[in-house]
Amino acid sequence: IYILGIESSCDDTAAAVIHNGKILSNVVANQTIHEAYGGVVPELASRAHQQNIVPVVHEALKKANVIKDQLHAIAFTRGPGLMGSLLVGTSFAKSLALGLNIPLIDVNHMQGHILAHFIEEEGFNKPPFPFLAMTISGGHTQIVQVNDYFHMTVIGETIDDAVGEAFDKSGKILGLGYPAGPEIDKRAKLGNPKAFKFTKPKVEGLNFSFSGLKTAVLYFIQKEVKANPNFVEENLNDICASIQHTIIGILIDKLKRASKETGITHIAIGGGVSANSGIRQALKDGESKFGWTTYIPKFEFTTDNAAMIAITGYLKFLEGDFAQSNIAASARLKI
Ligand code: ATP
Ligand code: FE
Repeated sequence: IYILGIESSCDDTAAAVIHNGKILSNVVANQTIHEAYGGVVPELASRAHQQNIVPVVHEALKKANVIKDQLHAIAFTRGPGLMGSLLVGTSFAKSLALGLNIPLIDVNHMQGHILAHFIEEEGFNKPPFPFLAMTISGGHTQIVQVNDYFHMTVIGETIDDAVGEAFDKSGKILGLGYPAGPEIDKRAKLGNPKAFKFTKPKVEGLNFSFSGLKTAVLYFIQKEVKANPNFVEENLNDICASIQHTIIGILIDKLKRASKETGITHIAIGGGVSANSGIRQALKDGESKFGWTTYIPKFEFTTDNAAMIAITGYLKFLEGDFAQSNIAASARLKI
C-alpha cells in the first residue's frame, strides 16, 4: 500500500510517501520568512504553503520513486493548526484524491505526533499499548494515555503557554533569535543548571502551566540588569541552563505523576521540543530512576513532518477509515 501524506498545519510544508509501514521519502520545506517577525505570521505562512505545496509533493514522489498512479490514498492534516495553512493542504489533498479517484484520509496532527512511533525504522522499538505519550511542541503540551492506535485520551495539558513557547519567549527576553529553543539547549550544555532558581508553577493534577515562568524570567532579568547592565551577556549560559532545568523539572514531575496514577511505565515523547538534549537525558534517566521504558523517535519524525501523517493515514487505511469528500479543515480539532 502506497500512501502520500501531506502536512501544512503551521509553518512547514511537508509531504511524505509511505509503503506499508516504511517511509520512502520525507520532504519538509521550512519557512524562514517568520524569523524576521519573531513568530509565525499566519497570512505569510498560508501564502508560502501555496508556493511550496506543488514542488514539495513532487519532490516527495520523486525521492520515493513512486508515480501518482501507484498511490492508494492521500492522507492530510485536518487540524489542529492555523486555518489559512490547513486550508492549503486540505484543498490540495482533496483535489489530488478526486483527480486520482483514490480515497482521502483525514489525520489529526497531534495523533500523528504520537503515531510517528509506529513508523518502521531500524533501531527504534515501537511502544506497546497502553503507553503514555508526552507531546511537547511550539503549540502543544500534552500527556496522552494511548490504549490503541485510535483510542487515546488526553490526561494532562497546558492551561496557558506550550512548553515550546516557554523556551521561545524566555529566549526573546534574553535577546536570542526565534525560535530560541535550540540555542537555549546549546547554551544550557555550557552552563550551571542550579545557578539561578525559578519557582515551579503549582497546577493541580496532570495539567501544566508555563506562562508564569516567562514572567519570572522577565522580572528576574529586569532586576539583575538594573544592578548590572551586562548581566545577561555575562551569565547567558547559566541563565539558559537554569531555565531549561526548570522546564525539565516541570515536565518530569508531571510524567512521574501520570505514570504513578495510571500504572503505565512505557513513556514516549514527540513534538519539536523533544529534540531538547536535556529532556532526552532526563527521560533516559527515568529508566533507572523510575523503572520506565522510554521511546524517543528519530529527530526528523519529532518536528512537524508528513511522515507522521502518512503512517497515521496507513493505519487508518487498514481500518477502512476514510474521509468524505466534503470534509473541512478544523483549526481546533481535538484528539
Ligand atoms: P505544533 O506541533 O503544536 O503545531 P509547532 O509546529 O510550532 O507546534 P514543532 O515544530 O513541533 O512545533 O516545534 C517547534 C518548537 O520546538 C519551537 O518552540 C522550538 O523552540 C522548539 N525546539 C526545537 N528544538 C528545540 C530544542 N533543542 N530545545 C528546546 N526547544 C526546541
Ligand atoms: Fe506539530
